[in-house]
Amino acid sequence: RATPPAAANAQRIRVVVRKRPLLAHERSNADYDTVTCAPGGRRIVVHEPKTRVDLQKAMESHAFDVDDVFSEEASTQELYERTVGALVAAMFDGCSATCFTYGQTGSGKTYTMLGKGAAGAVADAIAPSRALDGPDDAGLYHLAVRDCFEQLELLRREGVALFLAVSFFEVYCGGVHDLLRNRSTCRVLEDAQGEVQVRDLAEVVPDSLTHLLELTSAANAIRCVGTTSANEHSSRSHAVLQLTLRLAESGDSYGRFSLVDLAGSERAADCADAKRTTRNEGAEINKSLLCLKECIRALGAGQAYTPFRGSKLTQVLRDAFTGESARSVMIANVSPGSSSVEHTLNTLRYAMRLS
Ligand code: ADP
Ligand code: MG
Repeated sequence: RATPPAAANAQRIRVVVRKRPLLAHERSNADYDTVTCAPGGRRIVVHEPKTRVDLQKAMESHAFDVDDVFSEEASTQELYERTVGALVAAMFDGCSATCFTYGQTGSGKTYTMLGKGAAGAVADAIAPSRALDGPDDAGLYHLAVRDCFEQLELLRREGVALFLAVSFFEVYCGGVHDLLRNRSTCRVLEDAQGEVQVRDLAEVVPDSLTHLLELTSAANAIRCVGTTSANEHSSRSHAVLQLTLRLAESGDSYGRFSLVDLAGSERAADCADAKRTTRNEGAEINKSLLCLKECIRALGAGQAYTPFRGSKLTQVLRDAFTGESARSVMIANVSPGSSSVEHTLNTLRYAMRLS
């Protein structure tokens, strides 16, 4: 793998916040907007409703400073241009790039990754044409892969032979399941050199952007197998879309970009839930999100030791935390509604502890 020349001193971890708009059903439930983004700024403020001793309603404001803030008016395209696009460039420099969406269920993680047409309802997810309606509908998968194809074409004209290979899997309750192979279970092995490998994982070479979007939409739809609703299941699993640049001649990996749609952060609190399965799932999610935080902190601090073995998620993402060439972006997704204030504050506190 090539050592990145110019990117070596680039910022290794960026933390940004994306606020989604208040949805119609929230408005009709008397929810109101409690999150303000300073225009063009890097500060986000949460106004927490409090009832004082004298029963007067009051607001307590909590301010958070991050690397960039995207308000409900910002498109995914803008988010891509200001933060995530640099990760695709880093992959073409030979880096291991990773982008996470973190937040409570319903905060817009899947919308950010898959785009408008594919987030939410399964019926939408299996109709990839909707994700192609226009730039407003495009998610990060779409934007990143489009960028990859453009850059590959430029390199091809210069005689550099690379190709893009794609895998898509979910990490659920400590197991790895292939979303391109009907959720079949994969083995995770670590060789003598400490290289972690996910075995039995399908790798597809998409021939066009449309082909790739069909794959990811269909794959996202099967995240719901065996459960009552897509969001129920997807909120309990981490979905990882892995884009790998390979050298045409040898097939060796040159650079990688992983896009990680994390499990709902509120699930970590489910440990205390009465139902046993839920409790186990909650404990597992809690463990992986805590371990992820430690790994990202270690990366940002330039520490040699990264505790990636602490969870299956961080184990399979090992490349993201080790070596000089690791780059990552954490997108903290927040819901603006007054009924979500507590989760919003938890999400932002988690994000603040990363760098
Ligand atoms: P999550 O994956 O975090 O559980 P979703 O991405 O499914 O959340 O989003 C929940 C709902 O909010 C969906 O109906 C989605 O279309 C909507 N939504 C999320 N983000 C936005 C946004 N930036 N603009 C408009 N609607 C959004
Ligand atoms: Mg989701």
